[in-house]
Amino acid sequence: MMSERVILLRGKERALHNRHPWVFSGAIARAPQVPPGSLVEVHADDSTWLARGYYNRHSQIALRLLTWEPSEAIDDAFWQSRLQAAIQRRAGLYHPGQTTALRLVYAESDALPGLIVDRYDNWLILQALTAGIDRIKQQLAEWLLALTGCRGVYERSDADVRSQEGLRQMNGLLVGSQPPNPVRVLEHGLTFEVDTLHGHKTGFYLDQRENRRLLVPYCADARVLNAFAYTGGFGVYAAAAGAREVVNLDSSADALARAERNIALNAPDASVTSLEGDAFTLLRELRARGEQFDMVILDPPKFVFSRNQLEQGLRGYKDILLLGMQLVRPDGLLAGFSCSGLVSRELYQKVAFGASLDAGRQARILAQLSQSQDHPVLLTFPEAAYLKGLLLRIE
Ligand code: SAH
Repeated sequence: MMSERVILLRGKERALHNRHPWVFSGAIARAPQVPPGSLVEVHADDSTWLARGYYNRHSQIALRLLTWEPSEAIDDAFWQSRLQAAIQRRAGLYHPGQTTALRLVYAESDALPGLIVDRYDNWLILQALTAGIDRIKQQLAEWLLALTGCRGVYERSDADVRSQEGLRQMNGLLVGSQPPNPVRVLEHGLTFEVDTLHGHKTGFYLDQRENRRLLVPYCADARVLNAFAYTGGFGVYAAAAGAREVVNLDSSADALARAERNIALNAPDASVTSLEGDAFTLLRELRARGEQFDMVILDPPKFVFSRNQLEQGLRGYKDILLLGMQLVRPDGLLAGFSCSGLVSRELYQKVAFGASLDAGRQARILAQLSQSQDHPVLLTFPEAAYLKGLLLRIE
């Protein structure tokens, strides 16, 4: 079936040679009146064929490109082979008995713009972030079930970005059986209970898997402050590695309760303290009491959603980094993170530098931290790199 054509403005075809998968609405000269998410052929102003993708006139990112090969049709075999390739890329990361929670499809990074699929034990959680994916999600879910042998695919399309595509939020079972709540998963041999139906993102911060493990060698007998703890990811690793005390801090009582339970599942004798409230306030209180920790972890939510929030966001990062550094005992460790895509690695390091000057503490970078390998970054789509962090020794 021949799809309709989208014609780009003169000169805008040049960007496509870099194989970036997005075309903004401002680059489009003419487009057909087709339902949001329809497949289209993309042509230059002189009518040269350029690429094939899906189109949504309601979105700033009007086109998401799927192929630059004229002979590659977007048919069932296309989607199935892209899904299979994404799953295949992670073949080494899934280990029954070791790690059973991981991202299987990371959108643009897997040449499947708009589609996120996370595996939790034998259930898949799917997010359709664009109209192009929303239209075919049912079919994708069925193929995913067949390709993985999982028991069900549940949709968690409750991300805010859907509104930018003119889509409403949607949750529900797509195919197979509904995941139990909680789902029990393993990460590096540790057990976690995950609320995939209501938890943040698809239920768990899979992107921090490698960073959690990286801290293990430093945790024996340590007093660890896990700020922005959520369901205890870092705290569970610390407790299981023999931490003397784990202090989980979060504004969500539910998250803290689940963190306690997750630690109990892995280290029943661990000493755990839960601090509920605003981190900016509670970290100041800890400082005022002269509390000291061998390790402080700072993994705040996204502070910067748009360029005009950058300055304020950087102040937020600096504030908590400063407080965090002041709470680390001499020669202790601080692991600080930012998941704001608009804050570059360089910028985050500068903020940490400013905080260390203000704290009057010399700091050394032991490791540059980033998102785990199931969240890869295509060189043609560097925007996919959002998580950055520093493991610092604070002297
Ligand atoms: N480190 C966690 C993920 C952290 S997500 C893990 O590995 O799983 C960010 C967490 O920060 C959420 O649990 C959210 O409830 C919490 N949070 C957001 N704003 C906060 C604030 N001002 N003070 C304390 N916690 C906050």
